[in-house]
Amino acid sequence: MKFLCPVCGYWELPRPAQDDLICPCCGIQFGYHDYGTTHEELRHTWIASGAHWHSHVHAAPAGWNALVQLARAGMLVTFDGRSSAEDKNETDVPTTVYYPVTAEAA
Ligand SMILES: [Zn+2]
Repeated sequence: MKFLCPVCGYWELPRPAQDDLICPCCGIQFGYHDYGTTHEELRHTWIASGAHWHSHVHAAPAGWNALVQLARAGMLVTFDGRSSAEDKNETDVPTTVYYPVTAEAA
């Protein structure tokens, strides 16, 4: 059985994200990095730093793509910080960007 990383959406954790498990994808050590910091905050930090594959021991799956992984896990990045005053009343402005899911060969 595989488990989902609540920070980056990596879906092949060998056990639940707790008890010092380190996600090979985002590098979060559960029970340590997420002590006092929410998974969402950690996710934003991971994305802001480039959303790179973390582990040098555990290779990324073939064709791994951070955005596809986040999309599959329902952890899409949303943009709702529109600053233009004239856009304030628009209700049909999409705030979620859907990235195309493609399976590229490694
Ligand atoms: Zn992760």
